[in-house]
Amino acid sequence: MQKNNPMLENTERTELSSLGEFGLIKHLTQFIEIKNESTIKGIGDDAAVIDYKGKQTVVSTDMLVEGVHFDLAYVPLKHLGFKSVSVNLSDIYAMNATPKQITISLAISNRFSVEAMEELYAGFMMACAKHNVDIIGGDTTTSKSGLVISITAIGEAESDELVFRNGAKEGNLLCVTGDLGAAYVGLQLLEREKQIFLESPGVQPDLEGNDYILERQLKPEARKDIPVLLKKLEVKPTSMIDISDGLASEILHITSQSNVGCNLYEEKIPIDPSTYNMAREFNMDPTICSLNGGEDYELLFTIDAADFPKIKANPDITVIGHITASKDGVNLITKGGTSITLTAQGWDSLLKN
Ligand code: ADP
Ligand code: MG
Repeated sequence: MQKNNPMLENTERTELSSLGEFGLIKHLTQFIEIKNESTIKGIGDDAAVIDYKGKQTVVSTDMLVEGVHFDLAYVPLKHLGFKSVSVNLSDIYAMNATPKQITISLAISNRFSVEAMEELYAGFMMACAKHNVDIIGGDTTTSKSGLVISITAIGEAESDELVFRNGAKEGNLLCVTGDLGAAYVGLQLLEREKQIFLESPGVQPDLEGNDYILERQLKPEARKDIPVLLKKLEVKPTSMIDISDGLASEILHITSQSNVGCNLYEEKIPIDPSTYNMAREFNMDPTICSLNGGEDYELLFTIDAADFPKIKANPDITVIGHITASKDGVNLITKGGTSITLTAQGWDSLLKN
C-alpha cells in the first residue's frame, strides 16, 4: 500500500484478522496510562484491582448496539467512542460521585478495520482524558453483524455525599442543569440529511450553522462540573438523576421512587434558541422535544427550598418546578396555565392543547 499518497490515506484498511484478538487488544490499549492512585492494577491480568481506601464504590453499565443506539451512517467512530464513555460517566455524576475507572467490552464484526477501531479508541481515550478516568480492562469478541459496545464505569464517593433518586421531599425545588432538547433536534437533523443523501447520493448534507445541536447529539458532555459546583455551593441535592430518556421520564423516576408529586412549569424549561428554531423547522413543539427527546445528559435534581439563594444566581442551574404531595400527581403547568398530567410519552395529551 502506498502510505505516502495522501489520496489513499482514507482508503487504508488493515483487516482485524491480521492482528488477531490478542494483537488487537494490545494494539488498541498500548497508549493507555494509569492516572489514578486508586487503580492498583489495570489491563493485562485476569482482573483489574482498585482501592478506594474506605470510600464507597459506585458501578454503572451501559450497552450500545449498532442500529439500535447508533447509526454509523452519520456518527463518526471517534464521536461514538467519546459518547459511549460520556453517557456512562454521566450515571456516575448523577450519584454525586466521581468516576475513576472504566472497562470496555466490544463485539466487532470483520466489516470493521483496525483503523476504524483505532478511531473508536481515540474517542474513548479523549473522553477518559477529559474526565481523568482510567481504562482498566474489558473484553473483545466477534460479532456476526454490527458493533456492540458495553462500558462499565466505576467511581467513588464518601458515603454521606451519595445522592439517590428516592430522596425528594414535598416543598423541594426541582432543578436542571444546562438546556434541553438539543440532542433530539440534532438527531432529527442528521436523520433528515441521511434520507436526502440516500435518495440523491450526490447531494452534500446541509449541516451549516447547526453546530450546537449537532454537538449535543454527537458529542455530549457528561456534567463533571456539577458535583464539584454543588459541593462548592454547599448544596447537597435530596435526589438526582441524569437525563438520558427525556425530562418527563426522569421526573417520573424521581417522583415514583420518592413517593411524591411534582409541578413542572413549561415556561421555565431551559431551551436554547437554536433548539427552538430547529424544532420549529421540523414542525415540532420545542417543549415536547425537551420532555421526550432525551440524550441531553444534563442532571436533574431536587434541593431543599432553603438552599435556593445558593443556586439562584448560577447560570448552569434552572429551577423548573417544585415537589408536591404524592396525591397531587405529577403535572406540567403549560404556558397558558393549564395543568396536564405528565406521562413519559406526553405527546397525545400535549398535542390536544
Ligand atoms: P481473559 O481471556 O482473561 O478474559 P483477555 O485476553 O480477554 O483476557 O484480556 C486480556 C486483558 O486485556 C485483560 O486485562 C482485559 O481486561 C483487557 N481487555 C480485553 N479487551 C479489552 C478492550 N476492548 N479494552 C480494554 N481492555 C481490554
Ligand atoms: Mg476476555
